[in-house]
Amino acid sequence: MAQATIIDGKAVAAGIRQQVAEEVAQFVAERGSPPGLATVLVGDDPASQIYVAGKHRASEEVGIASVGRELPSDTSQEELLAVVGELNADPAVHGIIVQLPLPAHLDGARATSAVDPVKDVDGLTPTNAGLLVQGRDGLRPATPSGVMELLRTYDTPLEGAHAVVVGRSDLVGKPVSFLLLAQNATVTICHSRTRDLAEVCRSADVLVAAVGRPRLVTGEMVREGATVIDVGMNRTDEGLMGDVDFEAAAAKARAITPVPGGVGPMTIAMLLRNTLQAARAAPLEQPSAGAGPVRSG
Ligand code: NAP
Repeated sequence: MAQATIIDGKAVAAGIRQQVAEEVAQFVAERGSPPGLATVLVGDDPASQIYVAGKHRASEEVGIASVGRELPSDTSQEELLAVVGELNADPAVHGIIVQLPLPAHLDGARATSAVDPVKDVDGLTPTNAGLLVQGRDGLRPATPSGVMELLRTYDTPLEGAHAVVVGRSDLVGKPVSFLLLAQNATVTICHSRTRDLAEVCRSADVLVAAVGRPRLVTGEMVREGATVIDVGMNRTDEGLMGDVDFEAAAAKARAITPVPGGVGPMTIAMLLRNTLQAARAAPLEQPSAGAGPVRSG
């Protein structure tokens, strides 16, 4: 029987979307045009099509203009980079997402790195990753920001707390570790070669699982009173499942995210917030050359 507080990511995400919608309306009133989010989708992977459609729908709901560039699966690296370059140069586009994974012949890291860092709403360019590591302002990856927002909303003490992150990907594990460090947590990052993972996890006040292995984190790996954040999204015969054995962990945790309905809904909400942040930071559009007063002599 679960004793923990169930962290309601759906509700927190809905609140953020509402707030972004209000701030977008204010942005439009001030600037005369909306923030713009562009997606680049290569090929016809059905899951990627669904994710991209979801990003467009969510953008429209909050008043962000969305632009979809769909490219055939035989697109070359140069053609892809050219499209990213066009979007980098387009003043109506404030955020750019290259939807991953790309077809095997394309280099995803090269494509995401080609995005102008000021439009990098996925926070994946080396520039934004570096700013995060140095604790400087920048665009942060959406899912890790969503994790932090949930911890903040549910008053999770982080200062001096031991945070254990299982997973070290550039997308989730590493950025969430540095965001926790920035909140003065003592952070341990675990991965597939970590010795005695269970023992390390048991010492966590805050346990973040971002692995991609259903129920890797068992109840025995959770300390009494810990906060457990499950980033995992695993499609199994039993349906969508996280990386944590929810029932067993909830019996010991202070608070825990369910899957679905925990971290998942936060990702798009934080992406929308990033797009607004990027649009606010963009320079005001200058009148085009020749539009100003004519000077003579
Ligand atoms: P990833 O790139 O595959 O990274 C997985 C990490 O887990 C790696 O660092 C790997 O270690 C580590 N790992 C694998 N097996 C392990 C084990 N037995 N013990 C300890 N560590 C182990 O995955 P990702 O992109 O970070 O995604 C992780 C999960 O989050 C996936 O289920 C994904 O679907 C989900 N996700 C959800 C959202 C959302 O919106 N909720 C967003 C993004 C991702 P090595 O580095 O040593 O290989």
